[in-house]
Amino acid sequence: MKNITLLGATGSIGTQTLEVVEQHPDRFNITAISFGQNIGRGIEIIKRFRPKLVAVKNNQVKNDLLHACTLEDTRVVSGLEGLIEAAVYPESDILVNAVMGSIGLKPTLAAINTGKDIAIANKETLVTAGHIVMNKVNEKGVRLLPVDSEHSAIFQSIEGHRKQDVSRLILTASGGSFRDRSREELTGVTVEEALNHPNWSMGAKITVDSATLMNKGLEVIEAHWLFDMPYEKIDVVIHKESIVHSLVEYHDKSVIAQLGNPDMKGPIQYALSYPERLELEDVKRLNLWEAGTLHFQKVDMNRFKSLSLAYNAGQIGGSLPTVLNAANEAAVGHFLEGRIDFLEIESLVEAALEGHKVIKDPDLEAIEEADRETRRFINDRV
Ligand code: NDP
Ligand code: MG
Repeated sequence: MKNITLLGATGSIGTQTLEVVEQHPDRFNITAISFGQNIGRGIEIIKRFRPKLVAVKNNQVKNDLLHACTLEDTRVVSGLEGLIEAAVYPESDILVNAVMGSIGLKPTLAAINTGKDIAIANKETLVTAGHIVMNKVNEKGVRLLPVDSEHSAIFQSIEGHRKQDVSRLILTASGGSFRDRSREELTGVTVEEALNHPNWSMGAKITVDSATLMNKGLEVIEAHWLFDMPYEKIDVVIHKESIVHSLVEYHDKSVIAQLGNPDMKGPIQYALSYPERLELEDVKRLNLWEAGTLHFQKVDMNRFKSLSLAYNAGQIGGSLPTVLNAANEAAVGHFLEGRIDFLEIESLVEAALEGHKVIKDPDLEAIEEADRETRRFINDRV
């Protein structure tokens, strides 16, 4: 039996993680969860999975939750300390980090420190402080298992091979909601249009990131850290069907890929069951004759500027990826609340990157300061 702390239980990945857990009650058990403020869904989860510890966003949500239902065997905590307490919950064997944003960093580091394996969906954590996270992972000898579908695909395609034989990682990108529009056609697009992703149903922030291709940019940086691969050996190809989840090329030009119908429950379950492969019901079997033709297309870096901003930030390194991530989180938040135009997300991120004086090898404090300062920079301009 594997005991799980699930951070971000009410979200898209959180919900699908619970669906996987429900399919294997003899294998997985939820010991602690966190959510932000979705009390209605939170109560359903608590009643169904009976976690011993629940962390919520703040004291207000905690009080509302305690008023809304009687909890007998469940303790409720709040704020960042609460999130950390859930992450290090002694009975949990593994942390599934599915919160959105760089708030996931400290809980991840705390869980690694207590020797827990991590199933990481929360890519912002690796983008903002990849060097610190990976150093801790290596120091503590824990497993960092990818949940992001592209990284799970690479992980699956690289297993059993020697790292020095790999010549290139190739991430596939769906192209998001506006794949076939020109830059000019992006002026004035609505939040609703941006949230209408062709292949995946995901949280709001990552769906917007998919439309700008910043999501792929964040994933390039994530791949750099997870697989210790230099940026010049990480490529992106547009693949609109999202069936080939990513590929690994070897020195002999042989390419190994992982395929499947797009469903996050696959990579979530593999991160939980690794190295075993368990049955997974309700995921549609891939029949290639039904898929028919698969398409691949080179990315136009001028059209998808966010991707080139991310490559650049990753390559320069230091505190720049932190700024890229924080600026993007803040700008996407403003877009979702209707305060800025879609194209302004990119221009604000670019301005934040240009205005930042890079700190080489930043420690945790410097990262937190760069994150705060960047959010202030963006908020002042909106
Ligand atoms: P959602 O927005 O659907 O869910 C986010 C979760 O985090 C919710 O449970 C939310 O709680 C919680 N949360 C948000 N802010 C806070 C906070 N300040 N304190 C505590 N909890 C908070 O996001 P997704 O599930 O789509 O994405 C989660 C992560 O996984 C992201 O990093 C994303 O990039 C990554 N990912 C997602 C994929 C997907 O298919 N969705 C695919 C690959 C990666 P509440 O709603 O209750 O406020
Ligand atoms: Mg992905």
